[in-house]
Amino acid sequence: MYDVNNIFAKIIRKEIPSTIVYEDEKILFFHDITPQAKVHILVIPKIPVKDLTDFLNQADEIAVKYFFDKINEVVKEIGLTKTGFRLVTNNGLDANQEVPHFHMHILGGENLNSIR
Ligand code: AMP
Repeated sequence: MYDVNNIFAKIIRKEIPSTIVYEDEKILFFHDITPQAKVHILVIPKIPVKDLTDFLNQADEIAVKYFFDKINEVVKEIGLTKTGFRLVTNNGLDANQEVPHFHMHILGGENLNSIR
């Protein structure tokens, strides 16, 4: 069951602020409030899905492709394509997912050797 009052749902509705990197009607990229690397951006689809499993089960092929194509565009735009980056998602309990709205972490801007 999706919690409509989770913090990222509130960020999408602009009930709480975020530092936006890119936004359109389908997707939002914003800076993580506790960055684990020089670049730490979160990307979320603007549909009510709680994790990756939910996203892949509920979104159609076009929406899934749009999500990853837009990540590809944004990482290029911010210069991470040349130096590399890590794309991570925590899915559910054992992954210690904190916020129950599907999101991917984009980490980069430095060597990520010491970052899990
Ligand atoms: P996860 O453990 O994958 O659910 O990660 C949740 C992430 O959301 C963590 O890296 C938090 O630092 C980040 N976070 C929590 N609240 C906010 C917020 N208000 N704005 C930006 N990032 C947030």
